[in-house]
Amino acid sequence: MTLKFGVIGTGAIGKEHIRRITNNLSGGKIVAVTDVNEESARSAVRQFGLDAVIYPDDKALVADKNVDAVLVTSWGPAHEQSVLAAIEAGKYVFCEKPLATTAEGCMRIVEAEMKYGKRLVQVGFMRRYDSGYVQLKQAIDNNYIGEPLMVRCVHRNPDVGESYTTDMAIHDTLIHEIDVLHWLINDEYKSVQVAFPKKTKRALAHLCDPQLITLETKSGIIITAEVFVNCKYGYDIQCEVIGEEGVAYLPEFSGITTRKDARLGTSILTDWKDRFIDAYDKELQDFMDSIKKTGEPNGPTSWDGYVAAVTADACVKAQQTGGKETVALTEKPAFYKIEKEVAETV
Ligand code: NAP
Repeated sequence: MTLKFGVIGTGAIGKEHIRRITNNLSGGKIVAVTDVNEESARSAVRQFGLDAVIYPDDKALVADKNVDAVLVTSWGPAHEQSVLAAIEAGKYVFCEKPLATTAEGCMRIVEAEMKYGKRLVQVGFMRRYDSGYVQLKQAIDNNYIGEPLMVRCVHRNPDVGESYTTDMAIHDTLIHEIDVLHWLINDEYKSVQVAFPKKTKRALAHLCDPQLITLETKSGIIITAEVFVNCKYGYDIQCEVIGEEGVAYLPEFSGITTRKDARLGTSILTDWKDRFIDAYDKELQDFMDSIKKTGEPNGPTSWDGYVAAVTADACVKAQQTGGKETVALTEKPAFYKIEKEVAETV
């Protein structure tokens, strides 16, 4: 069976996902596309030689009986409307982050999905499919380093555009740590705090950079996450889990080691797309495979999208108040309690 996709939003990541479904992965086909910029949708059809209908908007695309699954890759504020329309039509949804731009919007999606009665939605939190994070999770779940006590993370980008603002360090950047860390350590966030160290001379006047975010979990694990988006030297993701019996590190992205001119060197990536390229492939392949196998997607759920939104909102509030802010999550519904194994797919 081939899963027939309709794509809403043919910008950068929309085209990347069209490319991987069309050229790299198995079991999927793009049969419909739409974008607010119709020329962008047309150019995607031309670029990838798609046999796909171009629709004027998301509603028309979702209504196409030939579409089994909707890929939501438009800009964030448009996601909620498209996801809700797809759920109402009983279509599967792969939605890029954010699931919705507000916690209330994410909750509306959670409620719509529960009302429908089966999991339809997967959120594009691809780090859970990165082999390094999967190895780290296995070390924790197998009790190799004992109970986690602390986590130290780093998220550095070489630079950002003028439109990047201080709150985007949370909503666009830290959001990936927010999602992957509670999954990694099997815990829930309780409170957050944000500190602003000395500002880099490379950040524009309106941007606070770097930032140091502290997240405390219900069991008392303290996570420190540095976001530094003008670090200049590369795209650098680090994660270290300090446990009772030992410490586990996220593997460095592998590249050759060189010995030259009296120096031992390994290159560091500069583009985030390269760092997680395998994880993007795996998350979409898993989406298609698990729907075929079990009738439901297997990856990060609407509930995970809600957790990320509530935690990110608390972080943005903490940026403004300078104090410790509570992560006020409602009780996880039984509907989302059965966690499935992602590790086996990697
Ligand atoms: P982008 O290049 O700006 O693409 C967004 C596309 O959606 C544009 O073509 C835009 O058209 C279109 N669009 C805007 N509103 C729309 C609507 N109401 N209906 C249909 N299309 C609409 O942005 P991007 O980098 O691809 O990002 C898209 C989404 O993916 C964002 O939510 C982003 O956060 C997420 N993302 C996730 C990752 C990840 O690591 N998981 C990485 C990158 C991006 P115009 O250009 O005309 O506005």
